Amino acid sequence: MRRQLSLFGDGALAAAARESKLHSRRRRAGGGAGLRVAVLGSGSGGNSTIVESGEGCLLIDAGFSCRELERRLEAVGRSAADVDAVLLTHEHDDHCRGVDRFARRHQVPVYGTRGTYKGPLLRGLGSFARPMGAGVPLAAAGFRIEVFPVSHDAREPVGIVVESSGGYRFGLATDLGCRTPEAWRSLQDLDILVLESNHDLDMLRTGPYPWPLKERVASRRGHLSNEDAAAGVEALLSDRLSWVVLCHLSETNNSPAFAVAAVQPVLDRRRSRAKLLVAEQHRPGPWMEVGG
Ligand SMILES: [Zn+2]
Ligand SMILES: [Zn+2]
Repeated sequence: MRRQLSLFGDGALAAAARESKLHSRRRRAGGGAGLRVAVLGSGSGGNSTIVESGEGCLLIDAGFSCRELERRLEAVGRSAADVDAVLLTHEHDDHCRGVDRFARRHQVPVYGTRGTYKGPLLRGLGSFARPMGAGVPLAAAGFRIEVFPVSHDAREPVGIVVESSGGYRFGLATDLGCRTPEAWRSLQDLDILVLESNHDLDMLRTGPYPWPLKERVASRRGHLSNEDAAAGVEALLSDRLSWVVLCHLSETNNSPAFAVAAVQPVLDRRRSRAKLLVAEQHRPGPWMEVGG
């Protein structure tokens, strides 16, 4: 506990500066100041998203086994050696299952909140663990990173906004029971948004989950419904928003068609040029690029 406290007592920017010295490696050729994102997979079976610019590469969440993460990185034309750092949204298994092995095997630092590091899968990370906290901007892999609290039944869950040196902005908000003003303020002015659209309320209500689990999912500390996602996207529309990805769909209580049917009308009504995608559980999605 003492060690953890002193670790988090370090200035985040100083830690990031040490990081860039330790990991001044593996810069991808070309790339420019744009931003590229691909969801490697999303759902209760595992979550991970890759974000890169010409200056560096991040994974957000590592909820698949190390081997599966490597396989999915290969499927989008990258390898674990390209990854400069991993950021964790929270400690649930489907977000950090493979992170310990991935970090050790590939010598990659892992950023998480103090609460996240209390999760059982993360206690062994040791010197690979780096601090991250709401309200403390972080520099890693050439990105400026901000995290903000979300409402979910984890110890200190966060959403994440990543900005490239060219000013392109990517935001990810998954596993959130409700839309809080703070989170939605943080998610303004994005080029690419990945947002949870977990369940269709009617499917959840009439589906096979036991009643306590239904209550948990639908609670303000559970998961976001399609209807909430639609209202949430509407509040984040701007001229610059180019991609919206709906993620963490329940395989029991949702379908991609229902999620799209809830959100696409919002984009159409507001004449948004943003393309709408649904992240899949079992295979990576396409690369999305802005400013390339
Ligand atoms: Zn969770
Ligand atoms: Zn989750």
